[in-house]
Amino acid sequence: MLRWTQGSYVHGGFHALSLSFPFPLHKPSLEPALGKARSYLSNLANWNTSGKKKGRPGSPGASNHPTLYDEAFCLDLDATDLRDSPRTCFARLKVYTGTGWEWHNYPVKLSRYFQARWRDPAWEHQSPKLILRQKSAALHFPQVKHVEAKRVKERKEDPHLVTIGVDLNVKNLAVVTVRQDERIIETVFLTDHGLDQARYRHLKKIARKQWQTGKAIKGEHSNQQLWRHVRQTNEDAAHKVAHQIVEICAHYPGCILLFERLRKIRPTGGSKSRRMNRRQANQLRGKINQYTKDKAYASCSTVTVEVNPHGTSQYCSRCGAKGERFSYRGGKRIVEKWGKLFFCPSCHYEANADHNASKNMHHSFYHKLHWEWRDKRRADPAPSG
Ligand SMILES: [Zn+2]
Repeated sequence: MLRWTQGSYVHGGFHALSLSFPFPLHKPSLEPALGKARSYLSNLANWNTSGKKKGRPGSPGASNHPTLYDEAFCLDLDATDLRDSPRTCFARLKVYTGTGWEWHNYPVKLSRYFQARWRDPAWEHQSPKLILRQKSAALHFPQVKHVEAKRVKERKEDPHLVTIGVDLNVKNLAVVTVRQDERIIETVFLTDHGLDQARYRHLKKIARKQWQTGKAIKGEHSNQQLWRHVRQTNEDAAHKVAHQIVEICAHYPGCILLFERLRKIRPTGGSKSRRMNRRQANQLRGKINQYTKDKAYASCSTVTVEVNPHGTSQYCSRCGAKGERFSYRGGKRIVEKWGKLFFCPSCHYEANADHNASKNMHHSFYHKLHWEWRDKRRADPAPSG
């Protein structure tokens, strides 16, 4: 991974601008896009006549968007008053009107983060890309920054290295534990503030509507507004949680951020809305993971290591024995796989299961997790199948 090699680049601000064209753009900024569309359509036609079931050609992707070079665009942030909200300014594009080339202004929406990066000399701006969608067009301005970071291997030598473990879950969106000198020095629970419940209610509504109107029409997204709301709240939560984690990282310069390689909480069983909710929760975890990595690297050059998730939620973070998860229901202790609490039968350690998992990530980073179990298997391989 580029992420933690010396002097790699971090990307940001891809979705900063969106604009609508009062009239269609013409050549040559459109020519490459038209070419892609034409080739896609002819590929699709060939595929249709071939009668094959597999290998349907995919629609043109993000790497196929045309790039605009210096002579064809201009973005002047200082010419407009940016204090107004919503923040708008104009991008000037050179367009072909059918008779000649002219400069035209298009209103664009900006985020304050984009502006901050735009003004910061540490961020380099690359040529924008024109993204054409079905009903809208957007200009994406890639921004990159050079970040110096030490290698993980070198840092591991440091006896006082601070590691920050982040366990991503559904209700506790992130459980953050900070460890130094073999001791946990800080623990932060970042909860979802009822997001999962609220999303579940929305999805139930969507599922019910779909059922009432019969089968959803292919290609048409029903319940668009509800879906947009679900997506936006997810996005919002991901950015917030990522920001909070990065703030913790900023307190410990030179620390290493630990994430698990995401294990999927499989959306099987339960009602349709429950499955949809699981899928959304999975996406949210992926987003938090991604945003945190990027933000942490860009703002305080914290590098991220993905640790092996195996067993982090099943083994005791204190003694390494295999424990069990349970919940209290009606005052009774019920052992279950997804229990909220963790209990170790060997040292009688009892804790929040997510907290235990978060602490285990540090062991996993130092390769000290359930090593006994692994050695046993190596000596006595289990029969396969
Ligand atoms: Zn134990």
